[in-house]
Parts: sequence; structure tokens; C-alpha cells
Amino acid sequence: MNAQGRPSRPDNIAATDAPTFTGNKALQIEEDLIFEVGDFAGTGVDFPEPDGAPSRLGGLERDAPIGLPGLSEPETMRHYVRLSQKNYAIDMGPFPLGSCTMKHNPRLNEKVARLPGFADLHPLTPEAQAQGALEVIDVLSTWLKELTGMPAVAMSPKAGAHGELCGMMSIKAALEARGEAATRTRVLAPESAHGTNPATAVQCGFTVDEIPADKTGRVDLAALKDMLGPDVAGIMVTNPNTCGLFERDIRAIAEAVHDAGGYFYCDGANFNAIAGKVKPGDLGVDAMHINLHKTFSTPHGGGGPGSGPTVLSEALAPFAPVPYVVREGERHTLVETRRAAKEEGESAKSFGRLTAFHGQMGMFTRALSYMMSHGVDGVRQAAEDAVLNANYVQARLKSEMTPAFDGYCMHEALFDDRFLKDTGVETIDFAKAMIDEGYHPMTMYFPLVVHGAMLIEPTESESKRELDQFCDALLSLAKRAKAGEADAFKAAPVHAPRRRLDETAAARKPVLRWTPPIPAEAAE
Ligand SMILES: *Cc1c(COP(=O)(O)O)cnc(C)c1O
Repeated sequence: MNAQGRPSRPDNIAATDAPTFTGNKALQIEEDLIFEVGDFAGTGVDFPEPDGAPSRLGGLERDAPIGLPGLSEPETMRHYVRLSQKNYAIDMGPFPLGSCTMKHNPRLNEKVARLPGFADLHPLTPEAQAQGALEVIDVLSTWLKELTGMPAVAMSPKAGAHGELCGMMSIKAALEARGEAATRTRVLAPESAHGTNPATAVQCGFTVDEIPADKTGRVDLAALKDMLGPDVAGIMVTNPNTCGLFERDIRAIAEAVHDAGGYFYCDGANFNAIAGKVKPGDLGVDAMHINLHKTFSTPHGGGGPGSGPTVLSEALAPFAPVPYVVREGERHTLVETRRAAKEEGESAKSFGRLTAFHGQMGMFTRALSYMMSHGVDGVRQAAEDAVLNANYVQARLKSEMTPAFDGYCMHEALFDDRFLKDTGVETIDFAKAMIDEGYHPMTMYFPLVVHGAMLIEPTESESKRELDQFCDALLSLAKRAKAGEADAFKAAPVHAPRRRLDETAAARKPVLRWTPPIPAEAAE
């Protein structure tokens, strides 16, 4: 006992991996499937029995139990809160996923998004009563057009991939208007492209050819020129690219594609590195999506909600999807149909509608609040700091790890697995060991052009203290790998609620459906 009468620590405690009766490990609570937790008879609500009113279902009444788990409200709530606490989140620690730009989501954004005038607005609210919301869309559009140097923007796409679809559908519509949709069927994309690029092109009916990379990790301009021809609809190029490098030949690339009669789709997922510094419109881009959930700090993870406004060049603007906001003096109107778009301008040839409504309003308010609280100079500084942080990480780690390419990087530092050669440790083991250290691993095995890739994007929102601790942890792991601790790496993670999964079985034979256990009497 200490002076306050509280028990002091006994001397004889040893760290053990003691199994527990419940399977819980202190506050890490085991969580079964909700179907396994509840029984099927229970319910969390108490409705009175129906008073014998005759059924009007004509014999279609369910004759077997519905099979929903029956839990009380607190049981249900605890189940989902426990599950939610198994997630790693940007609010818990650094989230260095390259290409994903997992930056801090400022709380000011949340406050603005929760203002009842925005939060409670129904998408079918009459225009006259939604002028403020339409103005938000209009002002945000103006910022996006200004920052990208592009004349038009489609606000409705609901993610980056959806923005790609919007851009490629605009290109398809433009080719149709030129009478060349049947002949221009090829889209070119670099080997290092994000998977959504070729997937989008194929979805739009194009075939995709890979543009090889040069030694520096960038598009091989000469090879690209050789691939161009009258059958090319366009290219899809990310800049800065997924190796974290600026495509220095970007204007020559755009010019070559335009000379060949194609369009330039730029994947703008990495806009965070150049926002406020470079205007994609000056680089010859025809269409580019902007992931508001990356560059403009709206939340993501757990599948959404994303938002992927797509800026369009003069050549593609007439094909933009409906709806969009137009402003006349103080009044904002929503152009909802292709016919209305035609009346709006002779040349408008909208390809139609991508989504039910005007886009992700909650993300628009958050993104605009981020932009307005930072100002253009703040947005530019965020880009500069993101690049500085990535170069700091690259510089600190390169004594033990191997950067994939020489020289400075943009907003993400790419390493390959040469430093693990002959250690018996692979990229995946390194990632699992990071989990034990309390870090979400960086992006692993992407881009595919780099062997055993590890793509680290610290973002501008990590402090030097956080970066140092992260780098120290990685340096220590790299040293341990080289010191012959392969077995420990193969066993990792040891401190996570689940140990290493059988990744192959999980991918090849996933169990996606819960089936009730056979009751004992039926099994007999
Ligand atoms: C994130 C990303 C995408 C896809 O964006 P989503 O919003 O996840 O659909 C496309 N390309 C690159 C390079 C990305 O990093």
C-alpha cells in the first residue's frame, strides 16, 4: 500500500501470454459475428401483437423465421462500437498510405458540415430554398477551376474512380461528336497506373495499352510517340505519378497526344503535391478528377464517402454531365436535364447524368471550408509541406532502406525491397511487423513497376516529432531484418487481435456468407 492507501505494484509480475477465459485481452475484446452473438427469437423492440387484422398479402406471408439476429439496443450498440474500435484511423496515428493522401481532417470542416442549413437539406429541396447550398457548389467549383486553370468542372462524381468515368465518358462523347468513336478505340496508360485507370477505360469500351517507363520511373516519351496513331482515343497519366515523381515531359506528352487527335486524361489523385503551385490546365490536360477526400482533407477510409469533381478543358466542357449549377447575378439554378443544358448553350452536348443528385454535398461543405480556412497561400503551403515531409522521410530512411529512384521525390517516398535482399524478410513481413509497432503499413507492392514496393506518403499534417518516431521505428525494423531476425518478422503481427491470415486462402476461397450451425438434433 502507498501513502494514500492505494495498492502498489507487486514485484513478481512477469509478462506472459496468459490465455483468458473470455478470449479477450484486456480491453481488446473478442467480437463474434452479430449472427453468433444474438439468438433469432429475441428483439430489441417491443411492438404490440397485431390485433388480428386480416392479412392483405394474399398468402405471400413469410412462413419461416426471417433469421435476423435478435439483440437488445445496448448489445447492438456495443457490437458495432467494438467493431469500429478495431479500425485504425487517421485520428489514431500516422496513416502513411502512398497515393491515398490520408491527411488530417480538420474539425472545423466537420463543424461547418453539421450546420443544420447544410446537414438537414434534402436533395429535392426546391431551388429557391437551397440557394445557399447551390452557392457552396458554385464557389467550390470556382476554386477548383481556378486552382486547376480549367474552364469547367463536373461536380457530381462520387469518388476518384467515378471522376475517371466522368472524364472518359466525356472523351467518348467528344469522339462520337467528331464521328471518330468507332475508330479511336485505344487508350494508353503507363505501367505504373493505378488500377482504376485501365478499369475505367475498359468500362467505357476502350482497349488499354501500357506505356513503358524510362529508367527514371517516368513515361518513356519516345515509346509513347511510337504508340500514338489514328486509333488512339487518349492517354491516362497520373502527375505526379504513382512513383511519387513529377512527369517532366508532361507538356510534350500532351502535345504529342493532341497532335495525334487524342485527349489527355490526367489522374489528379496526387494533386496534393502541386495544388497552388501548378495548374494542370497549363500542362495541356483535357480532363482530371480531383479527390476531395485526398487533396482537400475530407474524410475517407472505410469505403467513403468520396467525392471526385472532374475538371474539363474547353474541348470537353460541352459534354459535361448534368446536373450543374449556373449563376445569374445573385441567383443559382441547377441545370437538371440534357434538354435544359441545350437551352443553356447551343453547343452543349451533355453525355447525361452520372448520379441521382448533384454530388456529395457533405464533402463539398468540408472541402470548401478547408480551402477558405487555408486560403490559396495555405493550400500552396500544404503542397510544399507534403513534398518536404516526404523528402525528409526519404532522406532519413535511405541509410537503411533503398529508395526506388534517385533524387528528390514529390509528396511520397518510394522504396523497393533491395535492402531486404538475402534477409529472408519480404515486403509483406515488413508490413506486418509495422503493425506490431502501432503503425498502419504504407502502400505495399504498388506501383507494380517497382519490386516489393513500399510507398510512403506522410502528408503535410504530420509533425517532425511524429515523422521522427515513424522513421526511427522503420529504421529499427530494417536493422532487425538485416540482423537475421527473419523468424520474428514471419511471425508478425504478434500483438494484433489476429495473427497472420492465410492471404492466399482469403483471396482464393473467401467465406463470404455465414451459415447457421446445424442444430444438434437435426445433425443426429
Ligand atoms: C485513389 C486513387 C484513385 C481512385 O480514387 P478513389 O477516390 O479511391 O476512387 C485513382 N488513381 C490514383 C493514382 C489514386 O491514388
